[in-house]
Amino acid sequence: VPETADAVLDGLDPEQREVALALNGPVCVLAGAGTGKTRAITHRIAYGVRAGILQPASVLAVTFTNRAAGEMRGRLRQLGAGGVQARTFHSAALRQLQFFWPKAVGGELPRLLERKVQLVSEAAARCRIRLDRNELRDVTGEIEWAKVTQTVPADYPAAVAKSLRDAPRDPAEIGQIYAMYEQLKRDRSVIDFEDVLLLTVGILQDRHDIADQIRRQYQHFVVDEYQDVSPLQQRLLDLWLGDRDNLCVVGDAGQTIYSFTGATPDHLLNFRTRHPGATVVKLVRDYRSTPQVVHLANGLLGQARGRAAEHRLELISQRDPGPEPVYAEYADEPAEAEGTARRIRDLIAAGVPAGEIAVLYRINAQSEVYEQALADAGVPYQLRGAERFFERQEVREAGVALRGAARAGGNDPLLDDAEDLPAQVRAVLSTKGWTSEPPAGSGAVRDRWESLAALVRLAEDFARAKPGATLSDLVAELDERAAAQHAPTVQGVTLASLHAAKGLEWDAVFLVGLTEGMLPITYAKTDEQIEEERRLLYVGVTRARVHLTLSWALSRSPGGRANRRPSRFLQGLRPGSGSLGAVGSGGASGSVERGSGLRRRGPRGPVLCRVCGTTLTEAGAMKLMRCEDCPSDMDEGLYERLRDWRSEQARQLGQP
Ligand code: ATP
Ligand code: MG
Repeated sequence: VPETADAVLDGLDPEQREVALALNGPVCVLAGAGTGKTRAITHRIAYGVRAGILQPASVLAVTFTNRAAGEMRGRLRQLGAGGVQARTFHSAALRQLQFFWPKAVGGELPRLLERKVQLVSEAAARCRIRLDRNELRDVTGEIEWAKVTQTVPADYPAAVAKSLRDAPRDPAEIGQIYAMYEQLKRDRSVIDFEDVLLLTVGILQDRHDIADQIRRQYQHFVVDEYQDVSPLQQRLLDLWLGDRDNLCVVGDAGQTIYSFTGATPDHLLNFRTRHPGATVVKLVRDYRSTPQVVHLANGLLGQARGRAAEHRLELISQRDPGPEPVYAEYADEPAEAEGTARRIRDLIAAGVPAGEIAVLYRINAQSEVYEQALADAGVPYQLRGAERFFERQEVREAGVALRGAARAGGNDPLLDDAEDLPAQVRAVLSTKGWTSEPPAGSGAVRDRWESLAALVRLAEDFARAKPGATLSDLVAELDERAAAQHAPTVQGVTLASLHAAKGLEWDAVFLVGLTEGMLPITYAKTDEQIEEERRLLYVGVTRARVHLTLSWALSRSPGGRANRRPSRFLQGLRPGSGSLGAVGSGGASGSVERGSGLRRRGPRGPVLCRVCGTTLTEAGAMKLMRCEDCPSDMDEGLYERLRDWRSEQARQLGQP
C-alpha cells in the first residue's frame, strides 16, 4: 500500500496525473488501447480517497464486466482505498432496486426470471405463432435488443426497419410476442435482466425522493469503456447525476464494438458539448504493447473510416522492442489450429505461462478446432463467455442422434442412400436441421449450423484418416474427444471471442481465422458494419503485450478448394499485400510464413490427473485421466472444489 496519497500518483505519467488530480467537475479521457485509461481512473479514485477529498462510499465506479469490476476493487484495495463501489451498470442498478423496491412499489422485489426462453416460447404459443428452437432463441435476442434500446412492443417493427438489421421473423409477429411476454411477466410477478435497468430508470424518474436519496449517497461517478454505453445505461447515469456533473468517463471510440446493442461512441465524442468546461485529456503513450504491436495497431487505425476514425490518436509504445508480428497462412483450418497449438507449445516451452496466452476468434463456433488441437497437444485451455464445443446443446443432441443411428447399424432406413461415413453423418444431422448450405443471416440459427458443420468436417477428416471406419467408430472417437475436453483447465490458454476480450491483455495473442467472410463476417454488409468489424480486429491486436500472430486458412477442410482470401483488413499491413498508401505509420513489416500441411500429430504433452493434476505415466490411468489415488465417481463441480482444496493445502504448506 502506498504510504501517502501523493505516492498513489507515482507510476502515473503527466497526463494520467492530470486525470487523477481533476477530482471536481466533468472529466473525459479519450485515448487508445493500452494507454492506461483504466489505470488512470483507478488511481484517481484511490488518490481522492487517500487525500481525504472523496468519501469511499460516495464514489460509484462503473465497469463493463463483473471481472473488470472485481479487478478494479482489488486494485483499489492495494492502493489503500477499499470500500469504493466498483460495479457494472447492471449490478449497481440491481442493488438499488432491491433497496428501494419496498418503498417505491411495496413488497419484495419480484424474482429474477431464470428461463426467459421458455417464457418467450409460451408467449409465442399464446399468440398462435409457431417458432422452432432457433427462431425462439433469435426472437428472444430481438426482445432483449428492443428493451436495451428502450423500444416498446408497438414500436418494434419500425425500430427494426430503421436499424437495418434482418429480423428472424415478421417484425409484426415479434412485436406481438414481445407484448405478450411482457404481459406474462407481469401476471407472474417476475422481472428479466433488462427490467433491472428499466425499472431503476422508471423509479428514479417517478420518485424524486428516492432519486434524491441516491444522489445524496453517490457524489462521484466514474465510467470505464464509455464508448460502448447503451442508451439505457446513459439514461440511468443521467438520473444518478441529476443536475450535477461530477463525472469522469474514459473510452476509445476506436474500440466501439457493441453498436448492435444500440451502443454509440457519440456520448463519448460529444462529452464536451454536453458538459461545457469539461477537462478533456488525451493519452497517447501505450504501456501495454511493444513498438511492433503498436505499429500494426496504428496501421489499422490509419485505415479506419467513419466518426470514430476522425478522432484517432496514434499510439506511442513505451516498451522495449519485441518480435515482429507473425503472419501465418495455412492450407486449411485444421492445419491452422494445429500450427497455432504448436506455436503455443513452443511459447510455453520458452517460458510464457499458459495463462498469459490467448487465442481470439470472431464467432464462438470457431473454437472447436482450437479446443481439439490444444487438447491433442496437451495444452490446458479455458473458454471465456462460451460453452465448450461438446457441451453445446446442438452438439450433444447431434451426438445422441448419431449414437442412435450407430446402434441401429445398417437397419436405419435413414442411412439407406448414404456408403460412405460422411454421407451417413450428413443424413443423421439432416434430421437435426442440418443443410449443406449455411442459412441466411446471423444469430443463433447460424451459430447452430456452424457447430453442426464442424461435426460434419470432423467426420470427413476421420473417414479420410481411417478408411472403412463405421458410424460406431466415429461415435467412439467423439466420446473420446469430449472426454479429453473435460480435462481440468487451471491457468490454461484463453480461448475467447474478440468481443469477450475487451479490456484484457496477454503476453501472447493469436488472432485466428482472419479471412473474408469471418472478419469481416459475411453478414456485415453496410459500411458501418464493416467498420465495426475493423474495430474488432483493432481490439484484438491491442490485447497483445509482446507476441502477436495473425493467421488464416485458404480452405476450410483438408484437401478442399482454396476458396478463401485473407481478410481485406490485412491489406497494406501484411507484407507482400501491397500498400494502400494511406495507412498511417503502419504498413508492411515482418513476413508471411506458410504453415505446413501438418496432418501429422506432434508429440503429445503430458496427461494430467483431472483431480489432483499430477502427471500420469501408466497407460490405464492416462486413458481415465485420473491417478489411482483419486476417487472416480465425482461430478465436475466436485473436481473443482477438490482441486481448490488441494491447492489451498499446498499453499498452506508453502508449496507453489
Ligand atoms: P484498454 O483500452 O484496452 O482498456 P487501457 O487504456 O484501459 O486499455 P490499461 O489496461 O489501464 O489500459 O493499461 C494497459 C497496461 O499498461 C496495464 O498493464 C497497465 O498496468 C500498464 N500501464 C498503464 N499506465 C502505466 C504507467 N504510467 N506506467 C506503467 N505501466 C502502465
Ligand atoms: Mg481499460
